[in-house]
Amino acid sequence: MPTYKAPLRDVRFLMNEMFDFQAHFATLSNGALADSDTVDMILEGTADLCENVLAPIYQSGDEEGCHFDNGVVTTPKGYKAAYDQFVQGGWQGLSYPEQYGGQGLPMSLNLVKSEMMGTANWSFTMYPGLSSGCMNTILQYGTEEQKDTYMPKLVEGTWSGTMCLTEPQCGTDLGQVKTRAEPEADGTYKIFGTKIFISAGEHDLAENIIHIVLARLPDAPKGTKGISLFIVPKFMPKADGTIGERNPVTCGSIEHKMGIRASATAVLNFDGAVGYLIGEPNKGLNAMFTFMNTARIGTAVQGIAHAELSYQGSLPYAKERMSMRALSGKKDPDKVADAIIHHADVRRLLLTQKAVAEGGRAMIYYAAQLADKMTDGILKGDHAEYEYWDDKLGFYTPILKGFLTEMGLESANLGMQVFGGHGYIKEHGMEQIVRDARISTLYEGTTGIQALDLLGRKVLLGSRGKVVRDFTGDILKFCGRQASHKNMRGFAWDLTKICAQWNTLTLRLMLMARKDRDVVSSASNDYLMYSGYAMMAYFWAQMAAKSFELLDKGGKEQPEFYQAKIQTAEFFFERLLPRAQGHAEAMIKPSKSLMQMDISNFSFDY
Ligand SMILES: Cc1cc2nc3c(=O)[nH]c(=O)nc-3n(C[C@H](O)[C@H](O)[C@H](O)COP(=O)(O)OP(=O)(O)OC[C@H]3O[C@@H](n4cnc5c(N)ncnc54)[C@H](O)[C@@H]3O)c2cc1C
Repeated sequence: MPTYKAPLRDVRFLMNEMFDFQAHFATLSNGALADSDTVDMILEGTADLCENVLAPIYQSGDEEGCHFDNGVVTTPKGYKAAYDQFVQGGWQGLSYPEQYGGQGLPMSLNLVKSEMMGTANWSFTMYPGLSSGCMNTILQYGTEEQKDTYMPKLVEGTWSGTMCLTEPQCGTDLGQVKTRAEPEADGTYKIFGTKIFISAGEHDLAENIIHIVLARLPDAPKGTKGISLFIVPKFMPKADGTIGERNPVTCGSIEHKMGIRASATAVLNFDGAVGYLIGEPNKGLNAMFTFMNTARIGTAVQGIAHAELSYQGSLPYAKERMSMRALSGKKDPDKVADAIIHHADVRRLLLTQKAVAEGGRAMIYYAAQLADKMTDGILKGDHAEYEYWDDKLGFYTPILKGFLTEMGLESANLGMQVFGGHGYIKEHGMEQIVRDARISTLYEGTTGIQALDLLGRKVLLGSRGKVVRDFTGDILKFCGRQASHKNMRGFAWDLTKICAQWNTLTLRLMLMARKDRDVVSSASNDYLMYSGYAMMAYFWAQMAAKSFELLDKGGKEQPEFYQAKIQTAEFFFERLLPRAQGHAEAMIKPSKSLMQMDISNFSFDY
């Protein structure tokens, strides 16, 4: 099993040298709380929690899984104790308002924390992650009374939360939601229906679970315009903050899953459970979309988490495992063979994982700064500011979620490949990472849905290509600044070509889609992946530029650290960025070859 070690040197390079988080915090209304000593304490504390509490129960949690007994769900051995430690450390409240007992720190620190926690143990991290979704909903749409009732316990972590959207007939198309909410004379609602696949829907970690539920009012319009949001507590809260009687929302079963087996995925039955409307009637889906961005970035983190853990497992193995001789001559002459890290193809596997983990981390940290600015808009009650940053983040979100989780899954697979046949057996823990990574491209919007969101909603319909023109405009400014640095000329030239091509492809697809409506769907996955490679290239080029600068004038790290960054950037540009060209070629093909076959001819045997 990989022994997780928090990548604090990389984290500090990004926070201090690349993105200057202290300067960024200074622009936020709550930024003064995040002085460098506090940030350092958080990083060290998170690393300690991850390395010593969460990582040790990662493999055992997978082996044992969650238990279901007549509606009661028990998490694997050690999870309750680890969760108690998490609560006692005040980790849940890191970025939530002080008014409710939190520490009021910027949201980006929560993302930094959740990447480390998720890498150490993704299953565990699901529980507080879902609570965050629930808290964000209540904070933004709840009444003062709802906030006062639920936030303090959720912020503390003694209560946890869920997001109940999916039903048996629909996960993507939430317009089909059937769960109904019947109004009562006292202003509450009775909720009836079944939700499936609800992460953290039932468990033994917290004393109460607060469900955020999508349901329909009796006279609601059909489809997405008739869905409302409700708070449904597992136990009714009493005025003194303790829990009262059990609400009739029960767990019918938990799923037996391929991965994240220590995370309980519940079927929940609402049999007239008391619910409280949150936000406006019939506007529930709009409300959900508001923090879709932050939730999706939270899942994008899973991509880098699995790339990082897989890399941490495969790197030491590649240095120890001996096989044949290097093509360029013996490297370990005293040994029976050379270590496999001397073979170029094994280096391809390792460097791909490294490029994805570190490149993805840079992308996420940048997006985290945008998320901070968006949250600051909410804190200041400045809706225009909130919308401006939410819009900006909206372009990054499907790319981060779709591309990084696909690349994280590939990286997890490559880590297993480094181990050869030993990767496929349980003992080394590499196959668990692949199984755990698999869900990331499915939930919180499949890759297909992220791709449609990007090309259809954000690029074509939403902005007629402006979001790409704006983003590539920023890249071109960067290229302009780098053109005079001889070391950076190659990166700048490749990026300039990508910018021109990205805009041309966007325009071509816009024109094609006018005649062939299926093109938006047929091109979307290639467009998403192309955009991901282009975006990651920009972040790798920025890291290379910073590393050249710090090699020259001296930085906080050793020269070897910056050299490795530059070399990984070179690997990315030479070996991974060319994949974008395959996507470019495929995306502009008409949809005919996908759409022409008659459905009855897909098979002649069944
Ligand atoms: C372990 C786990 C945890 C989960 N946690 C939660 C949770 O906490 N809360 C919650 O509410 N849900 C949760 N889910 C549900 C998850 O979000 C959904 O499974 C996911 O959104 C996909 O929905 P679906 O399974 O109904 O697939 P479908 O919507 O049926 O999609 C099937 C396939 O069709 C494609 N597709 C669908 N529509 C289109 C279209 N218009 N164009 C192109 N392709 C399309 C999809 O991309 C997919 O490949 C969880 C699921 C799992 C497995």
